[in-house]
Amino acid sequence: MVEPIRLTTRAERETALAQAGWNVFQLSASDVELDLLTDSGTGAMSQEQWAALMIGDESYAGSKSFQRFREAVREVLGFPFVVPAHQGRGAEGVFFGAVIDPGEIVPSNAHFDTTRAHIEIRGGIALDLPVPEALDPRLEAPFKGDMDVDGLVELLDGPDGERVSIVMLTITNNAGGGQPVSLANIRRVAAVAREHGKKLVLDIARFAENAWFIREREAGYHSTPLPEVVREMLAPADAVLMSAKKDAIANIGGFVAVGEDEEFFHRLQARGIVSEGFPTYGGLAGRDLDVIAVGLREVLEEPYLRYRIGQVAYLGSILSEAGASVVQPVGGHAVYLDAGATLPHVPVEQFPAWALSCSLYLAGGVRAAEIGSVMAGRDPETGENRHPPLELVRLAVPRRVYTSRQLEQAADAVAATLAEAESVRGFELVEEAPVLRHFTARFVPLDRRLASLSAEAGSV
Ligand SMILES: *Cc1c(COP(=O)(O)O)cnc(C)c1O
Repeated sequence: MVEPIRLTTRAERETALAQAGWNVFQLSASDVELDLLTDSGTGAMSQEQWAALMIGDESYAGSKSFQRFREAVREVLGFPFVVPAHQGRGAEGVFFGAVIDPGEIVPSNAHFDTTRAHIEIRGGIALDLPVPEALDPRLEAPFKGDMDVDGLVELLDGPDGERVSIVMLTITNNAGGGQPVSLANIRRVAAVAREHGKKLVLDIARFAENAWFIREREAGYHSTPLPEVVREMLAPADAVLMSAKKDAIANIGGFVAVGEDEEFFHRLQARGIVSEGFPTYGGLAGRDLDVIAVGLREVLEEPYLRYRIGQVAYLGSILSEAGASVVQPVGGHAVYLDAGATLPHVPVEQFPAWALSCSLYLAGGVRAAEIGSVMAGRDPETGENRHPPLELVRLAVPRRVYTSRQLEQAADAVAATLAEAESVRGFELVEEAPVLRHFTARFVPLDRRLASLSAEAGSV
């Protein structure tokens, strides 16, 4: 299928963004030329997936689609018990609803924003324990997604150790640059968790991309078939959470899968019924379950993954050539720009990464996502804005959608933004929701000319 792209002028984009309250999430997609907002649910389905859609079994209970889905999860990932959900955060709702009591601490290499929200709305504390290398955007290290194991041991041996019941790893690490987690790190974290009687839970939204990096970068795996790398990677986990909108190349869906603890599985199932529906469809149509079953296998095909990882690396290299500060090494699904280095004159209180994402749209019709002080939200205790160590802008590449020629438009937009970088101003946040505020927040530009557009658009 071919989707036309509408070309826009800078004046049209200024009006559109002003009307959107200077929030690219609020733009109409038809005002975007190159949409790198997310790789979530934006992939193109294969002919096998479209064919699978046609044999979807829409029985309320016990559909054949569910059986095929469960079999794919068992065969590809190694988990026999699975609770489907409408998307990743549905799976998070089911899972954290069952495990979080107020005051519970959940350590992770770095929590994704929806995971953090699910922990915090239940009164838990989402604690990031990245390796120190992860905080240096220019450092080339193979596994910057790893967890700081010493930090984990310190936490579990310390006075707060009792407040932990699960230890998480997000693979690849979406919040921290799409960086992979090594098998060695997964095993060490698993061993520490087990010694302390804690469950290890993996967020495996991008399991295939992580497996690819293990094979490329970790000694001893260069000739291991990818499906085997995946099984070794996931074997130490007690449970996994997955957004099927990523590495199952589906447009919707998610699940929680459990290894051995059947009693825990039944608890999750019972919770799922309340919010997601009967346990053999979980918020999805039968045909969606079939699409996920096909996608879980397709994503491990070598030519696909080689092209995928190579295309994202190509985007990283042309952005670097355009003069951008790119987080190194380039991750699996996205290229991250270091907005702090790009706009050093914009203080964090004025949201430099947000400003950069707006500039990219205005300069070239490119939509990207801020991963900085807006997304970080407020500290639940003090109510103050949180400022993460890095102000990043993520250019996420949808799977099997754009040609590399199209991605070159992103490099042009970056070059245009850099040429006028000194005149780029920050933003004032004027309206926000209590959780996940970045989706709906409204802003006023500190740039006077743009602010006058805001007034014209009647957006404030
Ligand atoms: C996308 C994502 C989620 C949430 O999944 P949705 O399908 O968007 O609800 C959770 N964790 C990670 C790492 C993700 O990338």
